Formats: sequence, structure tokens, C-alpha cells
Amino acid sequence: MEFLKILEDIYNEALQQPKTGQVATSMPELALINPDKFGLHLVTLNGENYAVGNADEKFSIQSISKALTVALAFSKLGEAIWERVGVEPSGNPFNSLVQLEYEKGIPRNPFINAGALVIADILVSELKNPKQDFLTFIREISSHETIDFNLEVAKSERQTGFRNIALANFLKSFGNIKNDVDEVLDFYFHQCSLEMTCKELAHSFYFFANEGKTKSGKQVLNKSQVKRLNAIMQTCGFYDESGEFTYKVGLPGKSGIGGGIVALYPKNFVIASWSPRLNEKGNSELGMFALERFTTITEMSIF
Ligand code: GLN
Repeated sequence: MEFLKILEDIYNEALQQPKTGQVATSMPELALINPDKFGLHLVTLNGENYAVGNADEKFSIQSISKALTVALAFSKLGEAIWERVGVEPSGNPFNSLVQLEYEKGIPRNPFINAGALVIADILVSELKNPKQDFLTFIREISSHETIDFNLEVAKSERQTGFRNIALANFLKSFGNIKNDVDEVLDFYFHQCSLEMTCKELAHSFYFFANEGKTKSGKQVLNKSQVKRLNAIMQTCGFYDESGEFTYKVGLPGKSGIGGGIVALYPKNFVIASWSPRLNEKGNSELGMFALERFTTITEMSIF
């Protein structure tokens, strides 16, 4: 298939779309990004790479990091992580607190903020130097040594993170945060501040498409574990728009409020997009459009 031509056509089509979405305003670093940046990167499992637009510019991956933290936690503890976080779609916004009280501090899934905070707590317990070890893991699975946290973003996350601070304390009151709340939040704020290009993002998610094995041959998770995390991405990766993404795109994936989306077709490819204008659910407007066009044109969706 002529992937480059397909990406170029989608890119040109996307530029004609109405620009109704708004960049995230929760932090100055995100609010100041040029809203019209747009990039796509595709990596196939036979090692081909195709890119268009601003695919080599770093952006804040934000909640996309939640798929990588849960992968690391799952590789350390296996099924035991599901005692502390569920695998059900929440149907609520990513930063919602409402379900936590009647579900006794067990978040619905690892991709809403409450669930990601529990996963962060697990990693703080399991890793010797949590932030550094997580970074080493990301660099290793992606084979990109320059991937790093943006410390200014991490600081802003802290300064503006009142809801996350509330969530972490609420979880602690149920006993579902074992470590010091501030330490867990510090880890979470750093994971959200990770910056990647579309290319780095696509490479980081390669193992999800490749039965748990990275591009360089490291087995991160076994086949069954990767099948399970892909299933959770499919059902929960886009918060209360997960049904819509499944309906339109038909691939497991994960989004972040920095405007990134990564989606994958097991045993075939990983595609990453970046466009900072978000719809009202917090997902990249053009990213959703581009990925819908991609699976429609190529007829490559898991459905
Ligand atoms: N840092 C953001 C938060 O914790 C991430 C949200 C997102 O990308 N959906 O609220």
C-alpha cells in the first residue's frame, strides 16, 4: 500500500477542516502552543516509517503516558494490579471524582486520572528511583535516548493540579495510595510532562502492536498481557469518547490533552498524530479526523 501518499492526502484533507477546537488551557505551557501544528507518523511492523507535517516536533504527551505506566506496572506485578484498579469504561471525564466514593476508592480503569494515580503509586513502590527508572524504561522501549520530562510542564502540573491533588488524597483516604501522596503526585506530574515527537510516540507503542516485543527485540509484556492492555485502550483510551473513537476509527489507542493520539493495529502498524486543537471531550479534533480517514481508506481496522 502507498502509505506516504495516503498520509499526504489525509494531511491535505485535514487542513481543509473547520478549526473549531481549542488548545488545552489548563496550563500556560499547553495554552501557548501554536494550535495549527499537525503531524502524523506511521511505523509498520516490517520496519517502514512514513511521516507528514510536524511529525518530528516534540509535544507534551500528557495522558498518553498512562498507557506506558500501566504497561510497566503490569510487567512488574501482573494481574495483581487489577485488585487496585478496574478495567471498565468510566463514561465520565478523565478528571472526574464522582465514581470514586461509591466504588470505595477503586478507580474504574487505569486511564482516568484516578486510575493513573493508583498506577503511579504502584510504580513508586516498585521502582528504586521511580522517575529516572520510568524514563529509562521509555528510552529503552522506544530506542530514543533524548526522550525526557519537561520540568517546566511538571512544575505547572503541580501549580494547577488541584483536582489531581484532591483525587490523590481521596484515594489515600480509601487506602488505595500506599506511599506519600506528594511523592505519588510528583511522579504523576512528571509522567504527564513527557515530551515526544510523533515518531518517538509511534516507536514507544511498537510493542503493543508487536505482541509485547519492542522494535529492538525486548519482550516487555507477554502476548496475553498486551492483548489485555490493548483491550483497555480500546474501551477506555479516550475517556467518555472511547465509544466514538472505536466507532469511527476502530483501533485501540490513547489520547492526551497535549493533542497527541496514538493508535495501533496489532501485528500491523502504529500511527501517532499531533494536533493541539481539542474537542469538548479533550481529544484532538484533527487527530480523530485523520485516524478515521486512515482506517477508512486503508480498510485496516480491527473490526
Ligand atoms: N496532566 C493532565 C491531568 O492530569 C493530563 C490529562 C489528559 O491528558 N487527559 O489532568
